[in-house]
Amino acid sequence: MYAERMGQLPPYLFARIDEMKAAKIRSGADVIDLGVGDPDLPTPDHIVNALCEAARDPRNHHYPSYAGMESYRTAVAGWYKMRFSVTLDAGKEVLALMGSKDGIAHIPEAFINPGDYVLAPSPGYPVYRTSTLFAEGKVFEMPLLSENQFLPDLSAVPKKVAKAAGLMFLNYPNNPTSAVTLPGFFDEAVDFARDHEILIVHDNAYSEIAFDGYEAPSFLSTEGAMETAIEVHSLSKTYNMTGWRIGMACGNAEIIAGLSRVKTNVDSGVFDAVQKAAVAALTGPQDCVRDACHIYQERRDVLIKGLRALGFCVEAPKATFYVWMAVDDCMKFATRLLDEAGIVVTPGIGFGSGGNGYVRFALTRSSDRIQEAVDRIGGLLS
Ligand SMILES: *Cc1c(COP(=O)(O)O)cnc(C)c1O
Repeated sequence: MYAERMGQLPPYLFARIDEMKAAKIRSGADVIDLGVGDPDLPTPDHIVNALCEAARDPRNHHYPSYAGMESYRTAVAGWYKMRFSVTLDAGKEVLALMGSKDGIAHIPEAFINPGDYVLAPSPGYPVYRTSTLFAEGKVFEMPLLSENQFLPDLSAVPKKVAKAAGLMFLNYPNNPTSAVTLPGFFDEAVDFARDHEILIVHDNAYSEIAFDGYEAPSFLSTEGAMETAIEVHSLSKTYNMTGWRIGMACGNAEIIAGLSRVKTNVDSGVFDAVQKAAVAALTGPQDCVRDACHIYQERRDVLIKGLRALGFCVEAPKATFYVWMAVDDCMKFATRLLDEAGIVVTPGIGFGSGGNGYVRFALTRSSDRIQEAVDRIGGLLS
């Protein structure tokens, strides 16, 4: 019944984990879910209020514009200027997205011919791979190894692959490894893209979730990036707005135009009231972002301290709300934690073969619950 391309989609491991979790809850267990990459904190009030006001205004009830409201695109450009010192033309270099996933899912349609390679990190956000398959491209997995600080080794990409590649996905701060970029890496990526005539899509979904004074850069502040790259970003993680579905693609005008052309044919834009709330988020007070980072940082410290005390070797991330930990067998480890301790963690293999041998903890539960999870793991080990 299904088209052949459906058969190429990897089995959706996360759906299976959801089933196992649901069965555990039905059995009466008190499950601590450290699996989901979805903030437990609410969207700040001033943003919710802006939505309510805009939703009551009938002028906002029509089809939105495809590219996004001018006020939204201007707010995005202003935020990029303030946050990253990147100058964007709101008319040509900014596009509204229904979350960054929207941009990631549709970009290969515009730039990948059947058989072209797409370079994608492994482990990585699963949509890099599936969007490539939908466009009938071929995925070349760039392994993210701990000995290389979870940055891909671009010199290890075979010449033939680089020659037949159209696109490269990158993502720093990184999900799931929580790694951040290192000085010089983005420059190296721009050189690689220029040498091989490849477009770069940098996913910056976690730039604002950072700790210990770390400030994540925009890929677009790299010299030469505007000629060959776009950055997808979103309000999801920054302002606890995952359910609202609003994000942005920024960067090279031609790439933005290609993505926009695809999207014009598949969706009809983001609800204007949501865009107005997003303007309130981007132009309003930013202390809500700082407060959320403090909360994640405290949770991170509880988890890291607890895991280390149990003998695990684990690094404290500088950014993202994830902790990435090496284990012997990630499926076994995750299954045992769920079965015997009622704790959900994500086996790394769910993010591609490069994630094998790791599990991901999400810091999207309270410090008390995280401490409880640590105590339960301790009980398992003793
Ligand atoms: C959460 C996430 C996204 C998608 O977020 P949207 O809600 O679609 O903006 C994109 N990339 C990564 C790596 C993510 O973790």
